[in-house]
Amino acid sequence: MTDQARRLVEVALPVPLFQTFVYSLDGEYEHEARIGSRVLVPFRKRQEIGIIVAFDAAPPARGVIKAVSGVPDAGPALDEGLLTLSRWISEYYVVPLGIVMRTVLPALLTGAAQPHPNVKTRRIVRIRDDIPTLLQREKAFARAPQQRALFELIESLGGATSVEHLLQQLKFSPSVLKALEKRALISIDRERVERDPFATRVGRSEPRHVPTPEQLAVIKRMGTARPGEVFLLHGVTGSGKTLVYIELLREIVERRGKTAIVLVPEIALTPQTVDRFRAVFGDDVAVLHSALSDGERYDAWLALKRGEKRIAVGARSAVFAPLTNIGAIIVDEEHESSYKQGETPRYHAREAAIVRATQEGAVVVLGSATPSLESWTNGAAAKFTLLSLPDRVGGATLPTVAVVDLRKAVVDSAATAGEDDYQRVVTGPLDAAIRARLDRGEQSILLLNRRGYSAFVQCENCGNVATCPNCSITLTYHRSPERLVCHYCMHQEEPQRVCNRCGGATLRRRGLGTQQVERLICERFPSARVARMDVDTTSGKWAHAEILDRVGAGEVDILLGTQMIAKGLDFPNVTLVGVIDADVGINLPDFRASERCFQLLSQVAGRAGRGARGGEVLIQTRVPSHHAVKCAVTHDYMSFVAEELAGRIQPVYPPNNRLANIVFSGSVESGVADLAIAGAGWLRRLIRVRESPGLTIIGPAPCAIERIKTRWRWHVLLKSEHPHELTRVGRYFLERFAVPARDGLRVTFDRDPVTLL
Ligand code: ADP
Ligand code: ZN
Repeated sequence: MTDQARRLVEVALPVPLFQTFVYSLDGEYEHEARIGSRVLVPFRKRQEIGIIVAFDAAPPARGVIKAVSGVPDAGPALDEGLLTLSRWISEYYVVPLGIVMRTVLPALLTGAAQPHPNVKTRRIVRIRDDIPTLLQREKAFARAPQQRALFELIESLGGATSVEHLLQQLKFSPSVLKALEKRALISIDRERVERDPFATRVGRSEPRHVPTPEQLAVIKRMGTARPGEVFLLHGVTGSGKTLVYIELLREIVERRGKTAIVLVPEIALTPQTVDRFRAVFGDDVAVLHSALSDGERYDAWLALKRGEKRIAVGARSAVFAPLTNIGAIIVDEEHESSYKQGETPRYHAREAAIVRATQEGAVVVLGSATPSLESWTNGAAAKFTLLSLPDRVGGATLPTVAVVDLRKAVVDSAATAGEDDYQRVVTGPLDAAIRARLDRGEQSILLLNRRGYSAFVQCENCGNVATCPNCSITLTYHRSPERLVCHYCMHQEEPQRVCNRCGGATLRRRGLGTQQVERLICERFPSARVARMDVDTTSGKWAHAEILDRVGAGEVDILLGTQMIAKGLDFPNVTLVGVIDADVGINLPDFRASERCFQLLSQVAGRAGRGARGGEVLIQTRVPSHHAVKCAVTHDYMSFVAEELAGRIQPVYPPNNRLANIVFSGSVESGVADLAIAGAGWLRRLIRVRESPGLTIIGPAPCAIERIKTRWRWHVLLKSEHPHELTRVGRYFLERFAVPARDGLRVTFDRDPVTLL
């Protein structure tokens, strides 16, 4: 056989190169391989898993063409739809296709070391079809009472059960089982079992609601969607958006027989939402929890791919669920920044959802009480269809929100209060409101978006603040166990007794964290049942759900936590929400700081007053006139949007334009600075030679957080009104700009960044 006669394929490999690779398909493999099939190929002295992206590739100009060394699966791992989506992500976010595919496929399918993922099986005993008559039975078991007992037991279990169950729980002897098999009365086969950790979780069940006229109108409109139509569902907190999603899926999945994807910001934080979908659609739902093991995740993936389950519910990466015939993709809380992946490929699941739906002719629903400015602008420009649910379900009203001015409150209490005194943390009005809830047997939620005990430790004498040795970040004081912790790299150290700069024994803990609030609240209300929910209390897989289940069961009086407690929770007995300090994060040097603050305050306020008793929200702040605070107090999304959009005109920021953030990093500070300066110069020369209308280059400058995990960081910001200019320039830059192979120097390209820190 000559080289020309062999079939050549183009393979995408997970390597940082913007190209595909040509391999030959020999003999047996030719029949098994398809576009989208996984292949095992030799690459630089090792084996890699790649994906066939084209047949009949042109032979490369030089070099030997190597042969595909394995085709592990019977069919393609990626169908055409997911392949097209991968190509879009590769182009738009400027990431090699093979690296995108590694994200699209479950981890178990991307490791070359074990190309066949292990499938969990168990041995199942079944009574053979030809059940013996009574007479035959008497004869067969006349001298084998043990066999009879076992046989009848299997019958009573519905004719089938697992070997494990019979031998281990019921203590039958393996020889009796063997005898039955030998006499062809039963058969024993290996069957695949699905690892579904949700099967054992019993969620709260709730009555099936009849949609209100407002919900009905929205559902009806969605039912008449044209293929690829994107709805922005702006519904205030408690307006019943989940029911709208459920009714839409009834139509799409149950009546029209299609499949659907439901994206939520984080599964662990939204057990109630997940429970609702499971309650209605039961076994049709595959929950792609981020805490699943690789095996569990693979099982869920397989069930979706085989059509055994038709609804995928999950965080960001569920947008890659291997479904065909998709009818709807729902993105709940679409404004959440967790939909953007923080590492390569830095895709945004909302954008990927829209691309996937357009290509499949599915509808998209973006739901939020506080839509992102990007989506809102798209709605206003009629790119999205705007639907709204302006009122809470069942005549409930939004809670009244009041501000407590911390500047004034602290002055008032200064005469009596000491350093970390309760009155400085919980002001008089909030204290009275909590007490009233305890007296009435109602529940309160307290938000402080900072974990740990104290924000930082500072020397009163010289002003020195303890910082992380790896990051330019102050260390947070944690009390139990007592440690200084970096929230970026998890570095921990023993707290010092004296200042390591001036030697003074004058160290003070400053700034509040949830641990401290918890201590103060528990001291103030010793009989109250307090639960704290933050990263430190929720390390286990079901930790969030357990805390929330306790709240739901009325076993918690005060739920205290970070932004985790602001999302999606629906507890009718919560009548008070207190924000301990609204200003955390409001002054970060990031153009989205105000938007985040407004969203957080609106969302947490939305947890109050969902039941008949109504609700009250108290926001403690030092900046009551800030528009993020002001508009959250009046539930005035429109005013917030108007003011915020105006603030992003000069200097111009999204959604008024598009951004790409190029981050240069490495272990040597001067080397990183030099690389960033060279990169910015390179880009400026590029757009002088090849004009790029409307592209602005800003920087280079050190990042706001100059060092993370021992890496120094600089950045260059690209701004443009034309998305394709960012694609073009970004691709050109990443392909041609030479990054020296020393000091761990690295360049990353972040398209539509959600943070510029
Ligand atoms: P959102 O997500 O918009 O904040 P939810 O979907 O959590 O609101 O709904 C708020 C509450 O209203 C839930 O307890 C839900 O069960 C209830 N609910 C929703 N729709 C109806 C309805 N049509 N009739 C009665 N109760 C409803
Ligand atoms: Zn650190």
